[in-house]
Amino acid sequence: MALIYLDHNATTPLLPEVWEAMRPFALDTFGNPASAHAAGRRARQALEDARDLVANLLEAQPDEVVFTSGATEANNLALLGLAGDLPATILASPLEHPSVLEPLKHLAQAGFELSWMKVAPVGQAIIPEIAAKPQLATLQRVNHETGACQPVPELAEALARANDEKPTLLHCDATQAVGRIPVSFRDLGVTSLAFSAHKFHGPKGIGALILKRGTKLKPRVWGGHQQQGRRPGTEPVHLVVGLARALEIACRDMVARLERIESLRERFLSGLRGLKVDFVLNGPMRGGVPHAMNLSIPGLRGDVLLMALDLAGVACSTGSACSSGSLLPSPVLQAMQVPADNLLSALRFSLGHSLTEDEIDQAVNRLAEVVRRLRQVTDVEIPGGSASLAGLIT
Ligand code: PMP
Repeated sequence: MALIYLDHNATTPLLPEVWEAMRPFALDTFGNPASAHAAGRRARQALEDARDLVANLLEAQPDEVVFTSGATEANNLALLGLAGDLPATILASPLEHPSVLEPLKHLAQAGFELSWMKVAPVGQAIIPEIAAKPQLATLQRVNHETGACQPVPELAEALARANDEKPTLLHCDATQAVGRIPVSFRDLGVTSLAFSAHKFHGPKGIGALILKRGTKLKPRVWGGHQQQGRRPGTEPVHLVVGLARALEIACRDMVARLERIESLRERFLSGLRGLKVDFVLNGPMRGGVPHAMNLSIPGLRGDVLLMALDLAGVACSTGSACSSGSLLPSPVLQAMQVPADNLLSALRFSLGHSLTEDEIDQAVNRLAEVVRRLRQVTDVEIPGGSASLAGLIT
């Protein structure tokens, strides 16, 4: 049985054209871009061409692009590197990815005060009244579990308008946005922006932090002078070339891919309705990025559904994290105040442009069949419904 991959928010397959662009820089033009000889100069040229291309596609300056191992490192570099001296407040959204929440936790332990934005039930952070400006703020562009677009330009404007002279540094985790929807570093009005190549059919292990020119950043690692010392270490030229090529293709094909994914989403949801599968959509019906659909299948456990779907050849993910055998509800869904009954029955299906209509129809059929079978087995239902979850939700 062929696998149907509906987990494109986790990662996407590398495009053959991207691999072809990378190959010569892994095999032939293998020089260290810091070397003074011809082999090094050729590698440096490729690196700087890629940097120019990325800057151009995201409307930034080439010297604002800092390549990292991915968005996790870029988020850590931004938050830990931009947080200034104590005492200071950091404004954040509870919808963020762990690669933002964990460094924030670290900063809170070091004495920074965290101020949390409220969240609307469709999964959008609400911009607070800003009386005293925080020193640092962070807001993702698109949510990884629901696809909800976050009001980043609006937050940048609110911070700029606030009746308080001191500037706020604003970081944006744009990992689920770059390569999927138009992203302009300039227009967003942020200080820094993080992303990973593997979310838009580029290689794993490479991403970037775009950092506004002139911004002071404390590095997280120390070494050579690469990337102006902001992120030292020999640059992986083939990965950078792959990132730039994948982004170029993603931007070129963006409108067509978005239309395609929108129509596959419609087909998936109406297919489920047609087969009378009972589900609740967590997140925006429209207005988000169409790749992700977060669905609760009332009365059934997400982790059990995920395993049954895996056996049935459909790859998706749960909206909740599973650790050491105990179920933890997703902090994103909790922040959205998803009713307790639906928290543990959440599944995320995320789409890519290369899926076929037939794959969507088959995935719908397999999901309907899995739900039908599981409903016949009582012990996979959430025992006691919402009352049994009360102790798990913090
Ligand atoms: N932020 C968001 C919103 C993400 O979805 C992810 C990847 N799941 C990351 C950051 C981290 O990316 P990476 O694992 O490539 O470092």
